[in-house]
Amino acid sequence: MKFSEMGLSPKILQSIEEMGYETPTPIQEKAINPILEGRDLVGSAQTGTGKTAAFALPCLHRLGEHGACRALALAPTRELAIQIEENFNKYGKFLDLRMALLYGGVKYGKQLEQLNNEPDVIVATPGRLLDHLSQGNLSLQKIEILILDEVDRMLDMGFIEDVTRIIQKTPRSRQTLLFSATIPDSVRRLSDWALKNPAEAKIDIKISAADTVSHALYPVPAIQKFDLLIALLKRIKFDNLIIFFQTRRGTDKISQWLTEHGQTVCVLHSDLKQRDRTKALEDFKAGNVKILCATDVASRGLDISNVTHVINYDVPQHSEDYVHRIGRTGRARTEGEAFTLCKPEDISMVDSIEKLLGNPLPRKFVDDFPYRNEPESLAPSAPEVSRKRNRGFGKQLTFGGRRRR
Ligand code: AMP
Repeated sequence: MKFSEMGLSPKILQSIEEMGYETPTPIQEKAINPILEGRDLVGSAQTGTGKTAAFALPCLHRLGEHGACRALALAPTRELAIQIEENFNKYGKFLDLRMALLYGGVKYGKQLEQLNNEPDVIVATPGRLLDHLSQGNLSLQKIEILILDEVDRMLDMGFIEDVTRIIQKTPRSRQTLLFSATIPDSVRRLSDWALKNPAEAKIDIKISAADTVSHALYPVPAIQKFDLLIALLKRIKFDNLIIFFQTRRGTDKISQWLTEHGQTVCVLHSDLKQRDRTKALEDFKAGNVKILCATDVASRGLDISNVTHVINYDVPQHSEDYVHRIGRTGRARTEGEAFTLCKPEDISMVDSIEKLLGNPLPRKFVDDFPYRNEPESLAPSAPEVSRKRNRGFGKQLTFGGRRRR
């Protein structure tokens, strides 16, 4: 299929050409037509699949001419909101449409200016949008298209009441587009309540997680995790690396230790001022800093290209988060590597990640690393070794504990 056959307006096709997109991605093939027809839609696709364009392109087409406050896109994090608005601006470059971007942690001045400029599209995080609504800075009564992005994440972050309140302030006649990497019951319930007879566009999460990334699990005693991280950093050749942590405190502590070990790192988590978050992302994206230490704030939705390696310093608590984290690498069909440090207590989490991936994660050990315990005792058992894509370095164990090269 070609973009030119999808019924999008010439000005939108012009921006697509300028972006250098040749063909629609699978989620775009499935989502654009029903959205153009005015149908509600549930899209299950993660970031990296081209899902932003899948909703932004037909949304811009349907808006056509300028007219205030007709589309609203809600996103769970500030970074994702920024990215969505950037995309709307790029795809709408040749249209006479205005955007507003509303998120917390910054002053109101610039946002009020944007709202006074009668924006066609509003991209917002739920909390700040509700603040503006309660102050009477805008009304949602003319919303024609409501986009709810990364809904599973939004619900995980406790936004269900905020999101529900916002939806209730929009007209029932609206078109609603719901995007979520996974569709657990909570998302399904929201969709049943907020959407009317939606079309479905599903992109299999497993394929995108496994396709271009080789995975490895590095069992290690808890007390040696940092030493193993240093050992790994010495051995791998990375261009850009993200290290993920479970907590904000952990992120701060380990990034401090890394700095003391001579590494230059930038840090991204939700306790930081928005200014510092934006700067960290800019430095990392521009390649000024090669290592980004982050909590899961960075794992969802962010379009950071050229990440060659992801290291999970902590095993993610939700198996979907594993997929999101490693989705930062191996993007745009380039190969990437994802390493997960795993202490013995983490094995049940590893188990559910392997179930989600549909493949066991190959266990690896770093040669000459002074493991305090016998490596074999650290390697939790799993059904079978994946022989696929077993690149990397160091020795590998079978899941039964026998070593093989
Ligand atoms: P997203 O999943 O929306 O975050 O998009 C991931 C990346 O894919 C972004 O850098 C987009 O610019 C890019 N992209 C989106 N659609 C296409 C397409 N049809 N062809 C090539 N790249 C695309």
